[in-house]
Amino acid sequence: MLRKILIANRGEIAVRVARACAEMGIRSVAIHSEADRHALHVKKADEAHSIGEDPVAGYLNIHRIVNLAAETGCDAIHPGYGFLSENADFAAACRARGLCFIGPSAEVIRRMGDKTAARQAMQAAGIPVTPGSDGNLDGLEHARAVAAELGYPVMLKATSGGGGRGIRRCEDPGDLARNFERVISEASKAFGSAEVFLEKCIVDPRHIEVQILADRHGNSIHLFERDCSIQRRNQKLIEIAPSPQLDDAQRAYIGELAVRAAQAVDYENAGTVEFLLDGAGNFYFMEMNTRIQVEHTITESITGVDIVEEQIRIAAGLPLRYAQHEVGRRGFALQFRINAEDPKNGFLPSFGRITRYYAPGGPGVRTDAAIYTGYKVPPYYDSMLAKVIVWALTWEDAIARSRRALNDMAVFGIKTTIPYYQRILESADFRAGAFTTSFVEAHPELVNYSDKRRPEELATVLAAAIAAHTGH
Ligand code: ADP
Ligand code: ADP
Ligand code: MG
Repeated sequence: MLRKILIANRGEIAVRVARACAEMGIRSVAIHSEADRHALHVKKADEAHSIGEDPVAGYLNIHRIVNLAAETGCDAIHPGYGFLSENADFAAACRARGLCFIGPSAEVIRRMGDKTAARQAMQAAGIPVTPGSDGNLDGLEHARAVAAELGYPVMLKATSGGGGRGIRRCEDPGDLARNFERVISEASKAFGSAEVFLEKCIVDPRHIEVQILADRHGNSIHLFERDCSIQRRNQKLIEIAPSPQLDDAQRAYIGELAVRAAQAVDYENAGTVEFLLDGAGNFYFMEMNTRIQVEHTITESITGVDIVEEQIRIAAGLPLRYAQHEVGRRGFALQFRINAEDPKNGFLPSFGRITRYYAPGGPGVRTDAAIYTGYKVPPYYDSMLAKVIVWALTWEDAIARSRRALNDMAVFGIKTTIPYYQRILESADFRAGAFTTSFVEAHPELVNYSDKRRPEELATVLAAAIAAHTGH
């Protein structure tokens, strides 16, 4: 078993990995920028080391992180999500230094991180992929020809894209021409690659993804699906497991498809195969994420499997502890991404000091957060501050419990997505369990909530002010 792990990340996922290490008797090492000196992940790990003045550069500095891991006596690195998690050079640098990278091989990361290479690998394995260009596009003329063949609308996508960026829907040839240079420049800046490709736009699809686990002894299993259709600008907001929109036959089909996809590329460790489901019931492979996913939590809730612990065991060379038929599922789980954003103002990021924070608890409620009262949210990072994960036996109970949990939660001092989610939970379409990726756009009325503080919130603020004043 591994003895000491460097966590090459920050925020709630770094805290999540430190918790898994603590439970497994493994020492953890946090890294932090100067801006993150007071971050929660620094406090939760056994050791913490500064990786420099720049808020972001250190978290992306392969050489420095690998050296630090070796110098502090670590035998492995967990990359979390974002940052270097899908960087094949990082995985290779770990291996070259004799460190275990907690994820798949550099080769698999490289292949699946390239969306056109991944599509080709899946097609070769007989997995249905979204219709699109055979590879990357040579130029605007090529794009026009492919789009004419596919039929509009089409999606122009960055080959190395991620996090919902570098994707543009094009309604007609004029739109395609306008977006072409834009996506290329966006992709070069954000992902260091100017390659783009085209997909047919699946109109009003559901985003259905499957969690898989695979060890190096030839065992691969799935842990059922997640429905991530509630998105804004191609970024997930609320995730649900299992999807209330699939029947058992569809569930079995998509699970098997994902396992086949993983086996086709000799996948090892935890991964996610993302699909789009169209109105006619067809599933199309979209991409594979070769890392822990933000929403792994809801799969943990319905299956009882600790996915981060499994990642660590697999990386240590241990065989999977479950065969497919031993993985059960129970109830429904929802995850709410608590972002420091103002939904009323186009989801504009909101930063500053959190004057009061209270995490919801109670039966079936889990909060994975990177904040505390008095914490100053720095402006340099992802706006996701916390995740509220709710489990209950039925869909209706899970909604009722979600409303209770979000009502319980208090994050004062900054704007968050909490009041918006409270409105979504009241929406008839959402409660009926029928929604597509157009849900947010189709329901502009849901941002029309009153921003005034509820009386009980005002009371807590007043009580805090009085306590501060009287010194109690
Ligand atoms: P998930 O796929 O787990 O739902 P997200 O798409 O929300 O995750 O991304 C999680 C984090 O990783 C975000 O901070 C996002 O910006 C970042 N990220 C994801 N893919 C990439 C990528 N290819 N390049 C850079 N950052 C990425
Ligand atoms: P990322 O790597 O940024 O996560 P994805 O390829 O997974 O990018 O796409 C992100 C989201 O964009 C999807 O969940 C979906 O809502 C939308 N999307 C992507 N491709 C298509 C498509 N061909 N048709 C319709 N929607 C799409
Ligand atoms: Mg995706």
